[in-house]
Amino acid sequence: MANTFILSLSKMSKKNTPGIIEEHLKDLSRWSLYKKGMCNSCEGLCCYLPVEVKVSDLVRLNILIDFHLELTLKEQIKEATKHPGVSRYTSSSEKYTLTQKPDGSCYFLDSKKRCSQYENRPDTCRNHPSIGPRPGYCAYMKSEA
Ligand code: SF4
Repeated sequence: MANTFILSLSKMSKKNTPGIIEEHLKDLSRWSLYKKGMCNSCEGLCCYLPVEVKVSDLVRLNILIDFHLELTLKEQIKEATKHPGVSRYTSSSEKYTLTQKPDGSCYFLDSKKRCSQYENRPDTCRNHPSIGPRPGYCAYMKSEA
């Protein structure tokens, strides 16, 4: 019984819930100075930020092909947003936004908190954290896995 109680408590104490992750992302003062190798033990928090991407990123992700670049913008948007990984197009920035799952994570983040498209990931992701909400800093959070 006591062991069952302790087991229940340990399950309840999981800290990286969607709410905690959201708070952590918003509070830039809690972000860590980025150092090479940190990603290996991180929960993949940068992949919970909204990601805007260019058409060229969608081509690299094989969501659009060269043929789609010849279409009108309206047709191209229709094609791109057919893919479940693309949620919308913003005309003011001329960029697409990747879909975030209900827990806030990127559509392409796998169950091990790693990018399923790492080799083809968008420039926004490649440039993080040099370019981002707090340049040089990332929202590192130790993985519970
Ligand atoms: S595309 Fe990959 S690296 Fe970029 S946010 Fe999504 S999971 Fe992360």
